[in-house]
Amino acid sequence: MELLIKNLSKTYSNGVKALNDISLTIPQGMFGLLGPNGAGKSTLMRTIATLQDADSGSIQLDGIDVLKDKQSVRERLGYLPQDFGLYPRINAETMLDHIAQMKGIGSKSDRKELVASLLQKVNLFKDRKKGLGTFSGGMRQRFGIAQALVGNPSLIIVDEPTAGLDPSERNRFYNLLSEIGENTIVILSTHIVEDVNTLCSNMAIICSGEVLMQGKPKDGLAMVQGKIYQKAIEKSELDHYRKDYHVISTKLIGGKLSLRIESEERLGNDFEPVAGDLEDVYFSVISKKVDPITI
Ligand code: ADP
Repeated sequence: MELLIKNLSKTYSNGVKALNDISLTIPQGMFGLLGPNGAGKSTLMRTIATLQDADSGSIQLDGIDVLKDKQSVRERLGYLPQDFGLYPRINAETMLDHIAQMKGIGSKSDRKELVASLLQKVNLFKDRKKGLGTFSGGMRQRFGIAQALVGNPSLIIVDEPTAGLDPSERNRFYNLLSEIGENTIVILSTHIVEDVNTLCSNMAIICSGEVLMQGKPKDGLAMVQGKIYQKAIEKSELDHYRKDYHVISTKLIGGKLSLRIESEERLGNDFEPVAGDLEDVYFSVISKKVDPITI
């Protein structure tokens, strides 16, 4: 199974070109879609999820024309949108039962079994009678996965799922996602590089509506190996360094600014050569389109 996106473009009525000739091949497994805010990730996710139209281009899911045959896609789709609205007074069990009914599972006993097994899977069975409004961020996202899994989807889209989760909730969410990744296409859209590093076998980086890199995380890592240097400076020296070097990211460590610099040439002794990580790949790639320091 494969999702094939070809030459997809979308310009909003206000003139913003959100997708600019996007082509992507998304195989089975977890696929990470990385990009800064405004890159076009949600626009792409909503288009794949048949919630909005593109101006041109095509999307194929195993022979299904996604842009035309929307109903067939919806039958195979599980979607956890960025702003997943919940009815605060309805309890988890009832809500999931409604969703299962909407997805066409007619038999009450089938639904009961499915709802119980999904709630167990996402570790919310003991909370099934609680109103959704009382759920923590992590519980909400786990419930979001449960509803996305109704109907055994072959394509699951998860848009920025870990924003606002604390580290243990994030871990639990990761574990859950990695369990469903095997026989399904799971597209995880995020601006958190760590999410992709932890979970995804394939990835793409998009920025300003364009695909700047696609492949395996290790392909990305190979691009920066031997080219990344680190140096701690005073904050006031940043502009000076930016004039002479390609500074791709900065981090404050103990009051000093630690720079990551990308350089094809070997830098002198006061720059420490370091193994490039996926964050370096990300900043190096997006620096072709935007200023990675001020974004
Ligand atoms: P991301 O999910 O990567 O943050 P989006 O797809 O939400 O990116 O947005 C891409 C660009 O399109 C941004 O410049 C955003 O402001 C713009 N945009 C998104 N939705 C709309 C809309 N409904 N109308 C006009 N512009 C939009």
